[in-house]
Amino acid sequence: MLSYRHAFHAGNHADVLKHLVTIQLLRYLGQKDTSYMVIDTHAGAGVYALDGGYASKNAEFETGISRLWDRKDLPPAVAEYVDVVRQLNPDGKLRYYPGSPYCADAVMREQDRLRLFELHPSDGKILTDNFRRLEAERNPRGNGRGKRVMIQLGDGFLGLKALLPPPSRRGLVLIDPPYEVKEDYRHVKNTIEDALTRFSTGTYAVWYPLLNRMESRQMPDKLKRMKANGWLNVTLTVKTPSPDGFGLHSSGMFVINPPWTLEPMLKELMPYLVKVLGTDSGAGFTLESGQTKAVDTGTRRV
Ligand code: SAM
Repeated sequence: MLSYRHAFHAGNHADVLKHLVTIQLLRYLGQKDTSYMVIDTHAGAGVYALDGGYASKNAEFETGISRLWDRKDLPPAVAEYVDVVRQLNPDGKLRYYPGSPYCADAVMREQDRLRLFELHPSDGKILTDNFRRLEAERNPRGNGRGKRVMIQLGDGFLGLKALLPPPSRRGLVLIDPPYEVKEDYRHVKNTIEDALTRFSTGTYAVWYPLLNRMESRQMPDKLKRMKANGWLNVTLTVKTPSPDGFGLHSSGMFVINPPWTLEPMLKELMPYLVKVLGTDSGAGFTLESGQTKAVDTGTRRV
């Protein structure tokens, strides 16, 4: 099903959580000189204009990045995320929002590699054009195509296999499907199960919506059973769900093989996100981590 366009949702509270965590995962990988690879299985269009078209329709960015834009009290990790958005808006007016590929590109170093998959032909073309432009700015004498970023217009669940393990054996796989069809939940689980057999030490970050549907509720438990060293699950709720179940009020990032620094960082900053993005008394967060059942059954809940 190809009806989903991320532009409708760009910069909303769920993007804040997803992109903030992604940037911190890459900052951690960047602490060693050895290169790493980022694989974004569901890349979207890369950059979104907020002042027109799809994004302005429901103005979902007003539930997310807009609320952080003018704050002077951002915790350091939130400030790093907002700085990435500022790079796209150098005049200080919030007009463009970076998708996950741009967030990764902004943090990566020369030696790191970004591999992107996008199935929707229109978003795939926008993504390709955006990166061709970026590459041309960086390397005006080149042909617009560098080795650093490669884009495949195809199925990221399938394409991932061929890229694992990355040559440097260091990397992050971001899996962020639309979940408009329930098969996406199954694909996520099966894809990670397979990926861990190829690249067991990789970090895997899965974004997911917290909805009433059974598949959404069950997904974290299924991911906790994967054979890896450990996991972390963080969720952010910005308001009490409406009785009709309409709208997305809650989402999560499930990270397999997280760096040890992530949990203490999130413990500090999630109350801030709840305070700034939350709109009623139903706002809150959960943060739990543990080792997979294959190794241990310890679970901590904050
Ligand atoms: N990761 C992006 C970001 O954070 O900016 C947003 C991605 S959006 C939630 C999901 C994207 O996956 C959509 O652009 C959709 O067209 C694309 N898509 C859907 N199924 C796909 C598949 N099997 N493989 C690759 N892309 C897919």
